[in-house]
Order: sequence, then structure tokens, then C-alpha cells
Amino acid sequence: METKPKMIEIKDLHKSYPMGKDSLHVLKGLNLEIKEGEFVSIMGASGSGKSTLLNIIGLLDTHDTGTYRLNDELIENLNEKKAAQLRNKFLGFIFQSFNLINYKNAQENVALPLYYAGMSRKDRNEQALKYLDKVGIKDWAHHLPNEMSGGQKQRVAIARALVSHPKVILADEPTGALDSETSHSVMDLLREINKEGMTIIVITHEEEIAKASDRIIRLKDGIIVSDEKV
Ligand code: ADP
Ligand code: MG
Repeated sequence: METKPKMIEIKDLHKSYPMGKDSLHVLKGLNLEIKEGEFVSIMGASGSGKSTLLNIIGLLDTHDTGTYRLNDELIENLNEKKAAQLRNKFLGFIFQSFNLINYKNAQENVALPLYYAGMSRKDRNEQALKYLDKVGIKDWAHHLPNEMSGGQKQRVAIARALVSHPKVILADEPTGALDSETSHSVMDLLREINKEGMTIIVITHEEEIAKASDRIIRLKDGIIVSDEKV
């Protein structure tokens, strides 16, 4: 049997948020393994801890106890600089609200991570255009976000996530602001990207969207209550 390398390995993970002199226990001992090239969705009611989990996986937040390994590297006591380095190297993010910069056009938005990576203007503009083409909106390169539909904006955000060649795409309700037809076309695009070998983790509260992935992990009150192939 073919065994793919582990991309994410989480053991007995706990996370609480301080609440006055109390604390809110949000993740209560999660165990989870995601292999390279998997396309996984995470479901659960609002407040069940989905975003908290994705933020920890994405090195945007830290866990309290338990272990998290990303690409075989133990994630522990990272300072912000090291976390940023790992994020830039391994992770691409997609959000419900697109998080595009309004005064930059599509091409500039996609090129931005490459600017921070120190790439020359000519090269980053070329790469940005290549990825806009890949997500099907090359013709919109010079348009501002407010001139684009929700689906087009999410494609720009996907191109921006891809441009730095991450190993994992983390998407927190990427279709939450889109109509159902557009949502399905965004999932089709993620599927194409997955077919090229990218590991993808999508949070959604829509069964239909989750079914477009290969595996559904369900969270309830900070516990994984099911983890099944679609
Ligand atoms: P989901 O994404 O499943 O809706 P979250 O992970 O966002 O859930 O939130 C889980 C719980 O943790 C909620 O009760 C939420 O209010 C709380 N929470 C989330 N982020 C913070 C934070 N930064 N500080 C305090 N409480 C938080
Ligand atoms: Mg959330």
C-alpha cells in the first residue's frame, strides 16, 4: 500500500482562551493526522473550535498542550519571526471575506507575498499573471477588488495563496460569502489544485461543500466526533 508522508500530525491538542480569571476550554484533546495530498474538510457548529484549530495549524495561534508537527517539524515555542518563515514556506490561506487589499488590483494583490519574499517586480508580476491565468481570471488582472464579483475575488485570493508554492492550503469558510453555484466552482478549482498534489483543508458548515472533499472531520464542543472518508 502506498503511504504518503504525514503533513500534519496532532496529538492530544488542547487550547483555552483566557476569560477574566477563568478560561474557555475550546479544543479538548484532538488527535489528527493529515497526509500530503489529502483534501479534507472540517465541519461543526459555530463555536465548536474550527477556526481555532485552523489558526493553530496555520501558525497564527499557539496551542497550550499536546503536540503539533507540520511537515515533520515539531511546532513548539516559535517566535513570530520563525512562525512567519514557516507560514511563508509551507502555508497558503484563504478566508471567507477574501482579505484582499482594496486599493491594489488583482495582479498586485497576488504579487504581494512575492514582494515580501524579495522577488523583483518583473518576476513577481509575471508570476502573479501566471496564477491569475491558472484560476481563470487573467483578464481581470488590472481590476480592483470592488470591480469584481465575490467568486472572482475568491479566485484572486486563491491565486495569492498559491503564488508562493505552499505545501498546504488552509481555507476558513472560503465559500461562506458565495452563492451555491459559485461555491461549487471554487471547490472545483480547489479540487484541480489538489490533483496537482496540494494538501487542502477547508472549513465549511455546508454538507454539500464538505462532500466535494475526500474526508470530513466533525468537531463538536472542541472534540472530534467523527472522521470519515466521503
Ligand atoms: P468556530 O470557528 O467553530 O465557529 P472558533 O474556533 O472561532 O469556532 O471559536 C470557538 C470558541 O472560542 C468560541 O466560543 C469563541 O467565542 C471562542 N474564541 C475564539 N477565538 C477567541 C479569542 N481570540 N479569544 C477568546 N475566545 C475566543
Ligand atoms: Mg470559524
